[in-house]
Amino acid sequence: MASITIDEAICKGCGLCVNACPKRVIALSEHRMNSKGYFVAEKVNPQNCIGCAFCAIMCPDCAITVEK
Ligand code: SF4
Ligand code: SF4
Repeated sequence: MASITIDEAICKGCGLCVNACPKRVIALSEHRMNSKGYFVAEKVNPQNCIGCAFCAIMCPDCAITVEK
């Protein structure tokens, strides 16, 4: 099964990956903040990931790694 890893330490909560994902795998957390004060992206429907890598391509900070 495909999966992604989000490096929360470098995520800036921009939400681009959320909008890029066709399977609604990712959402911005409403409660978890990283050390920089950003609400981080997190996996909410990991089982839906198809490994398309749209999220990783969109992320301006290269915070997402895709594994197939
Ligand atoms: S690899 Fe594709 S399906 Fe999986 S989280 Fe990223 S955009 Fe969504
Ligand atoms: S695109 Fe990258 S920096 Fe922006 S919310 Fe997603 S993981 Fe974080």
